Amino acid sequence: MGRIKVLIQPLGDVSEEAVLKLTEMLNVKLDLFEAYMSNRRLPLSEKAYNPLRRQYHSPHILKILCRVSENLDFDRILGVAEADLYVRGLNFIFGEAQLGGRCAIISLCRLKPEFYGERSDKKLFYLRMLKEAVHELGHTLGLNHCRNMKCVMYFSNSIWDTDMKDYRFCSQCREKIILN
Ligand SMILES: [Zn+2]
Ligand SMILES: [Zn+2]
Repeated sequence: MGRIKVLIQPLGDVSEEAVLKLTEMLNVKLDLFEAYMSNRRLPLSEKAYNPLRRQYHSPHILKILCRVSENLDFDRILGVAEADLYVRGLNFIFGEAQLGGRCAIISLCRLKPEFYGERSDKKLFYLRMLKEAVHELGHTLGLNHCRNMKCVMYFSNSIWDTDMKDYRFCSQCREKIILN
């Protein structure tokens, strides 16, 4: 199986350094993806902004991302936003993906130690970013949540779950991707 060609799409006002780092880590740390960063920034639609929650409605952003990247020559599109994202019924989400689809998004907002009142730690922040990116890409590859706490497909209820898990797929999840 060849590598999966992924476009990393910056959404709105997101750190270019972080997006570049994510692109590099996806290429270097995993042998599954071939990632490229888009040099065009896609603005976040203000229609998706909920002023009461001060968050963006993730499904709205995902839909736009999918539509604008329809004709691009990539297997998967991963949007990266700095903004905090939500779906109805949840306080926040780290990311969202189309199960077995083409598009996914992640938010960097709650991956920063500063968000939890802790000291800035770029290494930790980047590792969390990689985990959330691989997790959402895993959903686009048809994977559901995994019960193995160490597997990247384990559901992160909080950042502590994210820190517990690895950035890689467990052998069972990996096998399911290969079989797809
Ligand atoms: Zn998930
Ligand atoms: Zn797994």
